[in-house]
Amino acid sequence: MDIETARTWVRAIAASVEAEKDRLTRLDSAIGDADHGNNLHRGFTAVDAALETHPAATAGDVLITTGSTLISKVGGASGPLYGSLFRAAGKHLTQAEPTPAQLADALDAGLAAVRKLGSAQVGDKTMVDALSPALEALRASAESGAGLAAAARAAAKAAGVGAESTIPLQARKGRASYLGQRSQGHEDPGAASTALIFTALAEATT
Ligand code: ADP
Ligand code: MG
Repeated sequence: MDIETARTWVRAIAASVEAEKDRLTRLDSAIGDADHGNNLHRGFTAVDAALETHPAATAGDVLITTGSTLISKVGGASGPLYGSLFRAAGKHLTQAEPTPAQLADALDAGLAAVRKLGSAQVGDKTMVDALSPALEALRASAESGAGLAAAARAAAKAAGVGAESTIPLQARKGRASYLGQRSQGHEDPGAASTALIFTALAEATT
């Protein structure tokens, strides 16, 4: 993951969020307050602009700028959570050209930051339900010697399966938890956007 790949990844996330904004907001209108697509669109539009103006020296810097911008520009729960994910991952990514295993380590540090902030476990019907299996797949693939593109494809697939797995669950964290059993039968918007983030990584590394 060199600096250009990191930039390409983040821009691919921004493009995908723009294309899927209405779907994310629709998912959030079923079990939340109908702002998830707009929140992420506002955030990643600001990230695109920040990457133009902040000279990044490493892939880690790109992710730190991404995280800090999301924290400052997105008001909803997802801003601080995704912001912490990218910022913690970026701080961990100190190598000039991190290997897939080093990227997995960095994103694990990001997941730890998300867990620390939101204290969600797998099964609580949040972004963690997509993030956690995606990172397990990324690591397993990296450890088997796969290149970044193959590892990213494995992660994207696992994130998609994880996002779908949230449909029958009852939410135990975030706004959707206020609905109790009525949160069942709907895909979690944050898990859906996490799947977009890993699909973007697969696109950026192919
Ligand atoms: P808000 O809920 O403030 O309107 P968004 O709609 O942008 O913010 O984001 C909602 C998503 O945030 C949820 O679908 C869920 O995936 C994620 N989320 C909410 N609370 C938590 C938490 N405590 N831990 C992890 N993810 C969470
Ligand atoms: Mg919302």
